[in-house]
Order: sequence, then C-alpha cells, then structure tokens
Amino acid sequence: MDECPFCARITADQFAPLTADSHVVTFAPLNPVVPGHILVVSRTHIINAAADPITAGMAMQKAANLARGLGSCNIITSIGAEATQTATQTVPHLHIHVVPRRMGDGLALPWTTEQVDPTLYEQLAAIEHARWAHWQSYMHSKCAPQPDGGLLIPAELVTHWQRMIDTPYDQLTEQEKASDREQVDRYWGLIQ
Ligand SMILES: [Zn+2]
Repeated sequence: MDECPFCARITADQFAPLTADSHVVTFAPLNPVVPGHILVVSRTHIINAAADPITAGMAMQKAANLARGLGSCNIITSIGAEATQTATQTVPHLHIHVVPRRMGDGLALPWTTEQVDPTLYEQLAAIEHARWAHWQSYMHSKCAPQPDGGLLIPAELVTHWQRMIDTPYDQLTEQEKASDREQVDRYWGLIQ
C-alpha cells in the first residue's frame, strides 16, 4: 500500500508513540484545520469505518479518550472516497478527526446546509423530472407498440442513440449540441 499516505506514515513511524496501541495510531494531519487537530488512524489499511466496525469502535474509543479535557470538539469520520467526494472522505484509510472547537474558529460543520437553498434544490429536481418525462415520451413516440404492451426501439434509433451515448459532448456536432443546450436553458434562469 505504498500509494496510501497514512500507510506510508505508519510504516515510517511518523505518529505519536505515546498514544499509539496495537490497533490505532494518532498523528496531526498535513493540513490541520485548527491547532490541535488530530487524526486517529487504524494501523492496518481499512478503507473506512463501515469496512471494519470493530476497529472503527477501537478508533472511536481512542478518539473519545483524546477528547477528554479538550472541552468542545468534533469527533468526525466520513465514509465515501468516491470521485464525487459526497461525504468528503479524502484518504481511503479509516481515520477519525478530533477537532478542538473554539468560538470564532471560523469552521462550519461539514453537514451545514447554509449554502443549500432547499427551494432551489426542489425546483432543480422538478426540472430534472420534467426533462426525464419529456425524454421518455419522445422515446415512446419513436417506438413500435407490441402486442404484449411492450415497445420496440427501431434498429436505426438504437444505432443512433448508441453513437450519442458513446460520444463526449465536446465531440458532438453543433446541431447535436443544440439539443443539450436547450436542456440547460431550463435550469439557466434559476441558477443565474
Ligand atoms: Zn492505508
């Protein structure tokens, strides 16, 4: 696991020896969000808390012990190191953040909803539904009804749509791009 930065640190003994045990180690992250920010990290390469709840529990026990005497703090772990970074897990190796908190430290909770306008979110979802329904009705109109109630997609459309599926947007013709731009226009007024 040379490519894992946490495994590399553990292999190189770059952790706090006094708080390490046979299951977890602790060290400061490369970019602490506040002074005193500590990571509790499993000794073995476990991708996240859900992959090994027992080790996750031992890591949490360590984090809770470290939190004693800190006063206000966040103890946080995230699951999901996929490309979309939905849960903001940046290193796919089980770790728990212990983050001391102070008034005016400027940190928001990671699950703050301040930037999300729920009305806008629902308006966008409604547009998405309308787009889907529009596409479905177009597709249905191009298909041949079958005796069993099914719809048959004509071969030439299968070929055409497959080519569209396989073509990245920047390689489409201007005419083909026009129909995608038309869809963007549905959102454009809302997000401007
Ligand atoms: Zn690792």
